[in-house]
Amino acid sequence: MSRFMSQRFAGLEAYVPGEQPQDMQYIKLNTNESPFPPAPAVLEAVNAAEISRLNLYPDPEGKVLREKLAEHYGVRMENVFLANGSDELLNFFFMTFCDGGKPVAFPAVSYGFYPVYARLYNLPHTKIPLREGFRLEPEDYCGIGKNIVIANPNAPTGRSIPVADIEKIVRSSPDHVVMIDEAYIDFGGESCLPLVGKYENLLVCQTFSKFRSLAGGRLGFAIGSPALIEDLDKIRYSTNSYNINRLTMAAAVATIESDEYYVNNSKRIQANRAYTVAELDRLSFETLPSQANFIFTRCPGVDGGSLYRGLKARGVLVRHWDKRSISDWCRVTIGSREQMDIFLEKVREIIKEAE
Ligand SMILES: *Cc1c(COP(=O)(O)O)cnc(C)c1O
Repeated sequence: MSRFMSQRFAGLEAYVPGEQPQDMQYIKLNTNESPFPPAPAVLEAVNAAEISRLNLYPDPEGKVLREKLAEHYGVRMENVFLANGSDELLNFFFMTFCDGGKPVAFPAVSYGFYPVYARLYNLPHTKIPLREGFRLEPEDYCGIGKNIVIANPNAPTGRSIPVADIEKIVRSSPDHVVMIDEAYIDFGGESCLPLVGKYENLLVCQTFSKFRSLAGGRLGFAIGSPALIEDLDKIRYSTNSYNINRLTMAAAVATIESDEYYVNNSKRIQANRAYTVAELDRLSFETLPSQANFIFTRCPGVDGGSLYRGLKARGVLVRHWDKRSISDWCRVTIGSREQMDIFLEKVREIIKEAE
């Protein structure tokens, strides 16, 4: 920290994103991107005509895209909020709804950005331990008198909980906001979006970065009651009113119109997931059941850090955390069949070497 930085950030530990190497070509299975490019209609939408309008600010209300999303999900435009990636949405959630009198809780093993935002805003926060096998127990979140953030499916475990369990949690805390981070919902989980009309305190957060092959475009969105969306908008207009750029807005509209393409890609990823898990089973790996585009797995004879380093040395990037509760494990993004075959081949090499 320099002598210039505000004292209130003295203890802040920043979020560390997964490696994005710009030099050599890796098989990139470390940040849960899609192996598939955007749909053809997206390439057409971001065209010279759109670029030639970059001298003009984008619509601060993002009306065309919000209408599109509202129609797609069977809600109204007033229920939809746009953000520059769901990371920005998380930022707005913590800033808008949490303070000393409205503490926040989230699972102890979950997306690493939640505690970073909690500390950024100096919020009292509770990390609720997961149960045996990284299972999330809904009862642990019922009536606890706090705002709640839950990723469903959870990261980095890939495990999900049913909508009925989410409804129990939401119903038990009508005066607190429950945010369900559905970054991975389109890989086999069950979305709780149908509950939005029923509960004013539920905020559902999704992203274009995973299922929709648009991580580089930076777009996330939330669906919730107009009351929550208005609150978020007040903070957004106090932060950055033009938070979604024109090109991303155009790409996103074409993305929603190409739903079939993405649903088909998700089916391929789910098939590759089943294939990868079965192959790892044959090598005696332990892999958690996943409803996401990644798996959380551990090798009986090679610790997580060694597996991560061995794979990196062989040109395959996965994610590993040096945190005691999960240091045995690696999170592996599910890519194309060809990528998974290379990953498996390198894993076999590493195991053989360790014998
Ligand atoms: C990837 C991820 C995000 C962030 O996605 P962006 O929209 O790219 O910012 C949010 N939550 C979880 C759980 C994620 O894994």
